[in-house]
Amino acid sequence: MSKLEDIVSLCKRRGFIFPGSDIYGGMAGTWDFGPLGVILKRNIMDQWWKFFVENHDNVYGIDAAILMNPRTWIASGHTATFSDPLIECKECKSRFRADKIADGINESVTTEEFLATHTKCPVCGKENWGPIRKFNMMFSTHVGAVLPDDDKDLTEKSTAYLRPETAQGIFTNYKNVVDTFYPNLPFGLAQQGKAFRNEISPRDFILRDRECSQMEIEFFVHPDTWEENFEQIRKANHDFLENVMNLPKDKVHELEVPAKDRAHYSKRTIDYMFDYPNGQEELMGLAYRTDFDLKNIERESGKSMEYRDKNTGESFVPHVIEPSIGVERLFLAVLSAAYTEDEIDGNKRIVLKLPENLAPYKYCVSPLLKNKPELVEKAQKVYQILRKKYNNVTWDDSGNIGKRYRKQDEIGTPKCIVIDFDTLENDTVTVRDRDTTDQVRINISDL
Ligand SMILES: [Zn+2]
Repeated sequence: MSKLEDIVSLCKRRGFIFPGSDIYGGMAGTWDFGPLGVILKRNIMDQWWKFFVENHDNVYGIDAAILMNPRTWIASGHTATFSDPLIECKECKSRFRADKIADGINESVTTEEFLATHTKCPVCGKENWGPIRKFNMMFSTHVGAVLPDDDKDLTEKSTAYLRPETAQGIFTNYKNVVDTFYPNLPFGLAQQGKAFRNEISPRDFILRDRECSQMEIEFFVHPDTWEENFEQIRKANHDFLENVMNLPKDKVHELEVPAKDRAHYSKRTIDYMFDYPNGQEELMGLAYRTDFDLKNIERESGKSMEYRDKNTGESFVPHVIEPSIGVERLFLAVLSAAYTEDEIDGNKRIVLKLPENLAPYKYCVSPLLKNKPELVEKAQKVYQILRKKYNNVTWDDSGNIGKRYRKQDEIGTPKCIVIDFDTLENDTVTVRDRDTTDQVRINISDL
């Protein structure tokens, strides 16, 4: 079994992630976060918010609506170009993303180029292809009272999209924030939220799903200082990934995207790659987007996006540097880095070595024996004290102590506290360390 399968299995067994709509046979490309997954996910998102937003005077938060005026996506180019090359097998009618089933081609592949690769259908094995068609990945819906038999005009006018990225909710609020907070440059606007992409073939667990959460910041900078600003953000990203998310330095790689692969408006892009169990994949991106987005909005809205410098009086459209990260990608990176199999006294065990700032629970409290009321009562007291102090504390009195340890190891609880008969005598408890399994006796008041 590969390590990714081990992680998927652990996620389901321990309530981190379940397949979406599992009870009805599932829904491709969707996943549900379970009781522990939702805590880990929120911890990751909260740490990001603290690191990039709360710790800086010049970074503001925003929480824009998922449904946006469709002109947003005309201005951004998504309506015209946010598409994947779709190819259909004429024999079995299976549809694929062309660049994912043939080697040596990319998203802009033409029908001729694809046919030249002599790729066989992964389903039926035949080689009989239709032409490549552009498949727009935005999910469309209808806003307002529209009926299925309404005329085409009305239907078209009511069409809206689930946002394919959170960034445009930031750009469209740039002017609102400038006009209400008068920030100096550089300043950042940050947003966390859902984004939707109708992937042709979702796969790789939560790496390529149809509904995901993003964390993005647009930093508005003076065009003359972009290189310096870019370097600062580049360093901050490493600091966050390696020191706050605890990802091993040697598994995070910078990929300088060459000019021919960059979006036409971008003058520099770095992809942060991570060594996932199934290979290296993109974890986050850092892109210098110039004034592309604000100029697009100017054109489509007819409103000026110029910024006036309070000190120099200079007026200009700011340039933008964008760090962007997918929460699920980061979630999987954190799990992959933490997932460990080792051996304790000849017994194999699975342990999630999550850092304390991310672990769903900091402490697990339990009585040594659950059929001794005096132990249970004392343990409950300790549990309530710690819960008040730390919030993220759990209680476990199931099975024997060895089983409890194994469960807490698998969900990444750093410390297990056990109340035994000595506790009743001297108010000390045993504290077991998840990673070393060493146990020490500590006064309850010192916890
Ligand atoms: Zn086929």
